[in-house]
Amino acid sequence: MPKRIFLSTQRSMLFGFLFTKIIFLNMFSFTTINDYHTNLTENNYSCKDAVNYYLNNIKKNERLNAFVEVFEEEALKKAAELDELRLKKTALKRLHGVIIAIKDVICYKDHKVTAASKILQNFHSLYTATALQFLIDEDAIIIGNCNCDEFAMGSTNENSAYGKVLNALDETKVPGGSSGGSAVAVQADMCMVSLGSDTGGSVRQPADFCGIIGFKPGYGTISRYGLIAYASSFDQIGVFGKTIQDVKLLLQIMSAHDKMDSTMNIEPLKKADIKKTLKLGYFKQAFNHKGLDPEINLKIKSFIKSVEKAGHQANEIDFDLMEYIIPAYYVLTTAEASSNLSRYDGIRYGYQSNLKPKNLNEFYLNNRSEGFGIEVKQRIMLGTYVLSAGYYDQYFNKAEQIRNLIVEKIKVIFATYDAVIMPVCPSTAFSIGVKDKDPVAMYLADIYTVFANLAGIPAIALPLFSHSNNMPFGIQILCNNEQELLLLSISETLFKINKEGQA
Ligand code: GLN
Repeated sequence: MPKRIFLSTQRSMLFGFLFTKIIFLNMFSFTTINDYHTNLTENNYSCKDAVNYYLNNIKKNERLNAFVEVFEEEALKKAAELDELRLKKTALKRLHGVIIAIKDVICYKDHKVTAASKILQNFHSLYTATALQFLIDEDAIIIGNCNCDEFAMGSTNENSAYGKVLNALDETKVPGGSSGGSAVAVQADMCMVSLGSDTGGSVRQPADFCGIIGFKPGYGTISRYGLIAYASSFDQIGVFGKTIQDVKLLLQIMSAHDKMDSTMNIEPLKKADIKKTLKLGYFKQAFNHKGLDPEINLKIKSFIKSVEKAGHQANEIDFDLMEYIIPAYYVLTTAEASSNLSRYDGIRYGYQSNLKPKNLNEFYLNNRSEGFGIEVKQRIMLGTYVLSAGYYDQYFNKAEQIRNLIVEKIKVIFATYDAVIMPVCPSTAFSIGVKDKDPVAMYLADIYTVFANLAGIPAIALPLFSHSNNMPFGIQILCNNEQELLLLSISETLFKINKEGQA
């Protein structure tokens, strides 16, 4: 072949190749996992195209600081393997090629896990969290590890050794926390779905600030094995997504039983008992709360009216424990945290100070003083204080009593109601730096989310509305323990009602 023709053929092949790649990159869009699988089987694109699309978005959005680490090579390799498998016409597993990001508190063998803390810098997981393993077993592709508040303590993602995360809708605003990175990863189209952890709202609140769905299962529904502990009797792995369908699929996969977590429910997920007329309740004290943004209050109230118009029942419930929720949550979680975080001493784990200690005590002191951030130290001290001999009865026991009262009250409520509606947060996403210096103001903003964790029930944040300040917000739905599937089915109904109202 003459040299010139050879070169031009080569060039046109190259152009053709690049052109199709660019078309694929542009063509790729994601709605649901189900739809993605249909497109894969129809050869409209490959898993590799999908991975490239998300890697490209991750690079474009680097300034948002959502990822701690991106597993680029691994994700591409896995995608190529899956594409090959598909060509052999092997039946697709439930998460074939589904691109997932995880929070930096979920262990993934041989990958860095640091809880966004200097004290765990460069620590690598020795094993994989069971819930994550269940996803990998279904052929999910794990694309990276997401930024968060240190040890999942916070509501803004400003307490991180890796620096703050920005809200993609308005980069002067916080994305919420503590799972801010995982929320932004879904919000800014850097993965399909992501995992966070929710001890007091860390999945639902950032979801609300970012305009996506955030789901927390009831306590004991998803294994905590391999989830770095903050407050063990509250912690749960949760899911960020854009559709209920996808959230449901992940829940179904991750809720398989794990003998490594003795607090897990033995029974499989309960089937949803779907009634034609839903009975919903909402707490009077939640809506009368002085911190609640009036526009959020009004929009949710008017939505409740539409729900009634659609044939369902919605009643006001007197819930007189509202003002005890935040104190009880912060006493109990800091107490648990002070115990859970005692293992980080610089010997068994992570960071060691360069200072020369005079004795063992000083060695621990140096490692922990330099390794932990200010918010974590504050909580360890608070937790140690409420557990100390002189104050145990006054604080810890009292908080336990409140928790028991809440659990009792919840039993009565769910004997009558299918679900409870609440705001997710008192405000939409606020500006970076605004609450950073005032921990009490920050804690008070958790008023609507910590309730579900105290009660151990499932809850979800649904992004239904837009505020006149242009930021998104939604509603929170809570169901009885073991009623995750009912919760998701009610969520679908409410989405539909909201859509019809807008039409
Ligand atoms: N904002 C809450 C806290 O700081 C939520 C934490 C969480 O759910 N991990 O404790």
